Amino acid sequence: MQEKLIFEVSSPGRRCISLPPCDVPRKSLEKMLPPQFRRKTPARLPEVSELDVVRHFTRLSQLNYSVDTHFYPLGSCTMKYNPRIHEEVAGQEGLSRLHPYQPPEQIQGMLELLYHFSGLLKEVCGLPEFSLQPAAGAHGELLGMMIVRTYHQKRGEGGRKKIIIPDSAHGTNPASAALCGFEVVEVKSNGNGLVDLEALRKAMSPEVAAMMITNPNTLGLFEKDIIDICNILHEAGGLVYCDGANMNAMLGRVRPGDMGVDLLHLNLHKTFTAPHGGGGPGSGPLGVSKALRPFLPVPRIKAVGATGRSPLQYVWDYDYPDSVGRIKAFYGHIGVIIKAYAYILSLGRKGLLKVSEAAVLNANFLRQRLSGHYDLPYTAGCMHEFVLSGRRQKKQGVTTLDIAKRLLDYGFYAPTIYFPLIVEEALMIEPTETEGKQTLEDFAEVMIKIAREIEISPKMVKGAPYNTPVRRLDEVKAAKQPDLRWSFPVDSE
Ligand SMILES: *Cc1c(COP(=O)(O)O)cnc(C)c1O
Repeated sequence: MQEKLIFEVSSPGRRCISLPPCDVPRKSLEKMLPPQFRRKTPARLPEVSELDVVRHFTRLSQLNYSVDTHFYPLGSCTMKYNPRIHEEVAGQEGLSRLHPYQPPEQIQGMLELLYHFSGLLKEVCGLPEFSLQPAAGAHGELLGMMIVRTYHQKRGEGGRKKIIIPDSAHGTNPASAALCGFEVVEVKSNGNGLVDLEALRKAMSPEVAAMMITNPNTLGLFEKDIIDICNILHEAGGLVYCDGANMNAMLGRVRPGDMGVDLLHLNLHKTFTAPHGGGGPGSGPLGVSKALRPFLPVPRIKAVGATGRSPLQYVWDYDYPDSVGRIKAFYGHIGVIIKAYAYILSLGRKGLLKVSEAAVLNANFLRQRLSGHYDLPYTAGCMHEFVLSGRRQKKQGVTTLDIAKRLLDYGFYAPTIYFPLIVEEALMIEPTETEGKQTLEDFAEVMIKIAREIEISPKMVKGAPYNTPVRRLDEVKAAKQPDLRWSFPVDSE
């Protein structure tokens, strides 16, 4: 299917709009814009009608997969539905039109919102203070690592240079630790896909600053030894950082702070429904234990108690001499935060419990339906996601990438593939709680159908996709050198 681009439907003289003749005197125009800044030839723009423009952009919007159009089981990325009411809430003029330089007395409502939102995160996670500054999950990790470093330095233990990270971790974990100057020490998972306690004990030394752990881990399994893990670290003077990007399965059920975790980031653009993809904006608030509070970024919001006739006031507080400083211009991605705030308030305590229940139920339902047709390397019940292996299919010469491409033909976005690294030909599936049973059934049926196709005609599957606007792309090139702009064919120059 060859789509016509907007320049190709361009026809000389065709117009979208007609403007009245310019009534500004030529003299004043020339004064406003000196000749050297004026173009010599008219810009080459497509000459099209309004309907051409509407069709062009509507068609472009339909060329892609999105949560709004397709089931999107991208493991670890939590592509859940983003309720439209959040957009309306965040878009309200009183919130979206504020300027970050407005003095606190003019933005009391916003400060109260941020203060209250932090309070909700504290309650959900069991940690005494949060910073809302980090712009994404990886940014929260970086802040966490900066705090770990500062904490040890202040205690005269700046020699702690090592961060322990399990082999199943998200790639941003070792990257954040390394960026902060730490040396990464990998610990292997055991046969059940969990942190191997013996290997962890062996990796411990007085040089260990912290461990970064994801719970549930990227295999979708709950690290049931988390309390022992925290004890091992704490007894050796180390800290425990929890990657809480995907908290779906935990909401309202367990709190990382209660497990002994010292630092934790959340991805508001995953667990808390703010839309994401295409590079942002996101939000990765970082929560810390009591001992680490002095190091959080400034400014922080302080509620100054009501006295006499003056009511409760919210002010920016910069007075934290041990703070690692500011890590983001202004105060974080406030639009994203408002959406997450709307999400938590609209669900309430009971709603959050339903979220974790449905996230875990949906994942286990799919895991059960698919486990006879694809290999399931770790058989324990899963949390919000699970990981299959395409190694059985690979024996037919069909790779996990081929399976992912074939899914597109059937109108499903592909799961995360080849991650976590410890699973051969990994297919990481996260249905999220916002999908209904019918969608899950349909997806399972298609996955099973593809498994059969591989047995009957592996070659056909290897040629997929057939129905998409473009066939197979050079994915590395598409990511590194995206072709996003129309350029004129050389002969028309
Ligand atoms: C998405 C994710 C991250 C990184 O979050 P970004 O917002 O993309 O920086 C870190 N850890 C895990 C487990 C994730 O799923």
